[in-house]
Amino acid sequence: MKSILVLLNLFITSILTAQHQPNLDVKRIKAEVTINDTLRRISAEVSIYFHIKSAVDSVFFDAQNFKSVNSNQFKFSYNSEKIIFYHHFKPNKSYKIDVSYQAKPKQTLYFTGKLGDTEFPLQIWTQGQGKYTSHWLPSLDDMRDKIEFDLTYTLPSQYKLVSNGNLKRKSKNVNLTTWEFDMQKPMSSYLVAFAAGNFVEETQNSNSGISIYNYLPAQDSLDFKSTFIYTQDIFNFLEQKIGVSYPWQNYKQIGVRDFLYAGMENTSCTIFSDEFITDSIAKNDSDFVNVEAHELAHQWFGNLVTETSAKHHWLHEGFATYFSYLAQEHLFGTPYFEHQLFSTAESLKLRSDQGKGQRLFNPNANSLTFYEKGAWALHALRNRVGDKVFFEAISQYLVNNAYKSVETDDFLAEVQSLTQVNLAQFKQDWLLQKSFPAEEAQLILTKSSFIEQLFELKALRGLPVSEKQKQLKEALLSKHIDYFGPEVALQLTSDKNLINNELLQLALETKHLKTRQVLIKNISKIPRQLQLSFEELLKDESYITREHALLKLWLNFPKKRSFYLKQTKGQDGNIHLNMKLLHLMLSALNNPDNAYQPVRGLVNYTVPEMPYQIKRQAFVYLFQLNYFDEESLVNLSEDLNHPVWRYRTFVKQLFSEIIKDKTIKASINQLMNNGKIKNVSKLKDLLKK
Ligand SMILES: [Zn+2]
Repeated sequence: MKSILVLLNLFITSILTAQHQPNLDVKRIKAEVTINDTLRRISAEVSIYFHIKSAVDSVFFDAQNFKSVNSNQFKFSYNSEKIIFYHHFKPNKSYKIDVSYQAKPKQTLYFTGKLGDTEFPLQIWTQGQGKYTSHWLPSLDDMRDKIEFDLTYTLPSQYKLVSNGNLKRKSKNVNLTTWEFDMQKPMSSYLVAFAAGNFVEETQNSNSGISIYNYLPAQDSLDFKSTFIYTQDIFNFLEQKIGVSYPWQNYKQIGVRDFLYAGMENTSCTIFSDEFITDSIAKNDSDFVNVEAHELAHQWFGNLVTETSAKHHWLHEGFATYFSYLAQEHLFGTPYFEHQLFSTAESLKLRSDQGKGQRLFNPNANSLTFYEKGAWALHALRNRVGDKVFFEAISQYLVNNAYKSVETDDFLAEVQSLTQVNLAQFKQDWLLQKSFPAEEAQLILTKSSFIEQLFELKALRGLPVSEKQKQLKEALLSKHIDYFGPEVALQLTSDKNLINNELLQLALETKHLKTRQVLIKNISKIPRQLQLSFEELLKDESYITREHALLKLWLNFPKKRSFYLKQTKGQDGNIHLNMKLLHLMLSALNNPDNAYQPVRGLVNYTVPEMPYQIKRQAFVYLFQLNYFDEESLVNLSEDLNHPVWRYRTFVKQLFSEIIKDKTIKASINQLMNNGKIKNVSKLKDLLKK
């Protein structure tokens, strides 16, 4: 999984509570799931095939908040968390149990958008990690039980559906279509997934002959090429670098609305956030390569070989992060890779110096630790044992533990079998110690002359621009402009009072996208002499640059406000409409007498079916305009239950802010009294505070 927020660790605690049944070995779960898109619920018939190792009197399957649970073979009970079957189960014997049920899950299975809507039609998808697949499918929350899932879904025919494994059969019966998937290898329950919606498909092939299917919402079908630029390259590279054939039947990637994280590596079926769906301009602002390579690497690290518990979570995230960095090195060169390691070492050292370093073995560690310190541990290990041993050990570890669960020592044993280097010391330094071994990291990094130069450039941060003109100029003309340019732009704009026109002009003239972006993001006062050069930024191949340019130019040059608005009229910007929304807000400010139309435009972007990123920005602008009518307040209140945690937090914070205004508070009370606001209990808590 890849979280958008760096310090997200919500799902770890839930993993710890799963219960393991050592005498039960579930071999296969075959499910026929019927999806009701109108009532937003499912019903299912499931067959569970299992083997008993030693005699037991009962077995259970996790199943959260199901209704109408039924089974005929054995006596059973259901306590809203587990279905328990009572029987004298004999050792070394195989059994099959059939269960039927209904479920309307509050988590794990999500319905987003609006049924029948043309712009944002309903999408249905799952997120199993940290959320429990058992909220919609009886399964085992414990990661150690690996099961072959063969899943069949029936739903209205307008949907395209993808799930784990191979699509074996698709059949239509009146208005319903049945999609039958087949898996051949076992996996942990948290990796079960499906996604359904108005999707279109594009197929590619890896060098090894694996089919790769990419899916986008139909209205984004023009974005295949710019979104999946590197897919084949990444796939071929990882398969070759890891040295073990891709372990599943095929690979699918599907972009969905309102996804909870950046991406999730469900076995052979990665789901990712639609913010990574990009056109030929938005791709320049996107970090999808990182997400794409990360989730694909998990198909080996996590899905093929799985941690026994969260204590060993770096075996998933550290490995996926590191192999994603290696894929990016392959695509963009070694300086890119070194720069990534340099940036994460900076963050890790900072936390460590603040006394906030964490052990990699801490099951509750944050994602900076699991992902970045984990990746760094692998890089340091590679440096200590050498490339040959390192990569041989990686493939040996995967081969010897395929479709099994492992602990960190299983990995270290594979490395130790190939080297004389003392790995006990490595374990102490990198896995058991809280602080970040910054000296070792620096020694590794400064082997590169490019990183040495970057260190020197960053060391100039404290000096006034007048004392470092020569060095900044050289950096702007260097071949490493990709990395030095943004740093120079940052230093040029950090001194708000002393603007150096000559260097600013030079930075703009590099035509380097990220350098220009950092300039416009950070500058507050644009020198009049450079007005024309800054106006050019409205045409840069980046929607983020254009957005910041429009705002800064509008603020700096009041006489030309109408001109700038005219020039950018009709531009949507990225998939979440960054240009259009800003344009509406500035139009409202520009002409207060005619503000009604643009303000209504913003309110229209707060309706429930809208992607949360659009709603959030529309609400931010309405807040800046201090405009909250009945409709926007009702819409905002609906989102107190939104499944995306960070957006839900934003909604609560916004409510806490706007109720300081007495008129708005009175409107909210009135809307609660007349029943237009339904989330009354949550709002009352906020009003009390
Ligand atoms: Zn991950």
